[in-house]
Amino acid sequence: MEAPELKQAELGLTTDNLRIVHEKIAAVLGRQWVSDDPAVLTCYFRDFTARVGKWPNLVALPSTTEEVQAVVRIAHAHRVPVVPYSTGFNHGGTALPQWGGILVDLKRMDKVLAVDEEGMTITLQPYVQNARTYAMANCFSALQGLPLKPALPMTMGSASTLCNYVSRGFSAIAGKHGGHSENIVNMTWVLPDGEILKLGPGSFPNVGDVPVQFGPGPDISGMFISADGMMGICTEITIKLFPEQAHEKLYYLVPSRQGDEALEDCIEFFYRMSQANLMLFIYKMCHTDALVMLPDEMNPADFMHMIPEHAVMLILAGLTPEELEIKEQITLNLAQECGLTPADVEMLAQMIGINMHKDMFKKIYQAGKVMKPKGSFQWIAGYYRLDRVPELMKDYKDIVVRYWKPSDPRISYELAMSGTHMQGPLQFGRATTIEFDFWWDPGNPEDVKRAIVTLRQMGEMMMRHGAIFAKNLVGTYELLPRLGVYYDLVCRVKAMMDPLNIMHPDVMPVGGPGFG
Ligand SMILES: Cc1cc2nc3c(=O)[nH]c(=O)nc-3n(C[C@H](O)[C@H](O)[C@H](O)COP(=O)(O)OP(=O)(O)OC[C@H]3O[C@@H](n4cnc5c(N)ncnc54)[C@H](O)[C@@H]3O)c2cc1C
Repeated sequence: MEAPELKQAELGLTTDNLRIVHEKIAAVLGRQWVSDDPAVLTCYFRDFTARVGKWPNLVALPSTTEEVQAVVRIAHAHRVPVVPYSTGFNHGGTALPQWGGILVDLKRMDKVLAVDEEGMTITLQPYVQNARTYAMANCFSALQGLPLKPALPMTMGSASTLCNYVSRGFSAIAGKHGGHSENIVNMTWVLPDGEILKLGPGSFPNVGDVPVQFGPGPDISGMFISADGMMGICTEITIKLFPEQAHEKLYYLVPSRQGDEALEDCIEFFYRMSQANLMLFIYKMCHTDALVMLPDEMNPADFMHMIPEHAVMLILAGLTPEELEIKEQITLNLAQECGLTPADVEMLAQMIGINMHKDMFKKIYQAGKVMKPKGSFQWIAGYYRLDRVPELMKDYKDIVVRYWKPSDPRISYELAMSGTHMQGPLQFGRATTIEFDFWWDPGNPEDVKRAIVTLRQMGEMMMRHGAIFAKNLVGTYELLPRLGVYYDLVCRVKAMMDPLNIMHPDVMPVGGPGFG
């Protein structure tokens, strides 16, 4: 769409232009749904990550795709940057505006638009949160009357399902159902010039929500995944649902060996379980998962001996108790061969006061918070070959000791409040997600410095080893220009779709603002 001719004063981040833009948005949304009140703006420049943003100039709250389109068209005509915001729980600080502009907060778009039992899909707006996606899907059933469920990440029940899927989320059930972006059926996007684009099979006439992943011809959906809003705003998504089996059991398996050898045993177990295709959910935990949840009056050092650095959380599922029992037999044999022993989860749960029930991951989705970490929780994660994880871990340990561990000699590597996770191994266990967690105190300047330096080092380390970044994260986006032709092409496509660079101009280093 051609931008109408405007005078210079009606372009960019000038006071006069922003006043005009404010009035135009108020005329479309209603005055109560756009604000330049500092008390409102100040809510959007910080999050729990080590990144800091700038205040937006305006916050707009559209309630439909057409209203999003109208806001984007106004922004486009007046050359004001736009930053979309769903629930703000990303780990890269990517929903923080860096140049000001209009922050498009999507919290009024909170509708479950459809559940298709036969097609086994659910269609959501951006502010449908994981807890509600799960609860809604569960009201419907398919196959032999089994309730439906979505594949959800191990994050807060209050995080946006749509945004997790378009930002290439992943979960510990990926081995069973694939990564989240593989389970997208249809998407509706408002492009930087305000055009509306349908992606997926529904972009073809009369197709609707057929549960396949691609549209006709060369499929262009990939350009929109993990783009963090720089290609437009996703206003609707249709995702696949899966049948939930009636019988589930949770196991907590502990290696008998320690340290690096324990990790090797967990990897071997991951590998063999993936090939046997037995588990619903598999997760290599770390000691800090439990240590950060201890009540404040308890000293983590006193509990280290009870909590292994590496352990495996596993959920098996079956249609009948007999099916579950057979799977359990095979799994426990495999665990024994790999040197892992089932621990009493109830006892451990009571000892350290955390919820380790088999439904814990469903309950997480229903609760507001995933955990009670000490300070802020920041991760950097990627996909990597399972057999090469031990090499990566050596460098990670070195970084923790050199950059993350405080100089206090009483703080060991194990007590440095950092740990690794692996989830949902893919392709028969050939690849896995690998996640490095850091718990830090955003109110402590020393912690902030350590967090930023460590995350940069971690990004470099992952690139050196060939671990592909799962998402745009603190410590990763600065490295993307090194991808050469791949990165150049991303920039060229972005420049073609958004020549004014108004749509989230700062999300990746794609050339700075072209507005105003
Ligand atoms: C404790 C914790 C644990 C987590 N564990 C996991 C995990 O195991 N697996 C996993 O996958 N994730 C995990 N996450 C990440 C988190 O759940 C996802 O980032 C979230 O689901 C995506 O929504 P969001 O609220 O982060 O999006 P936001 O922060 O609102 O946005 C993320 C990015 O997308 C852009 N954006 C926002 N809305 C839209 C839109 N509608 N269209 C286009 N662009 C948009 C924003 O500008 C920003 O760049 C975890 C997060 C936390 C805090």
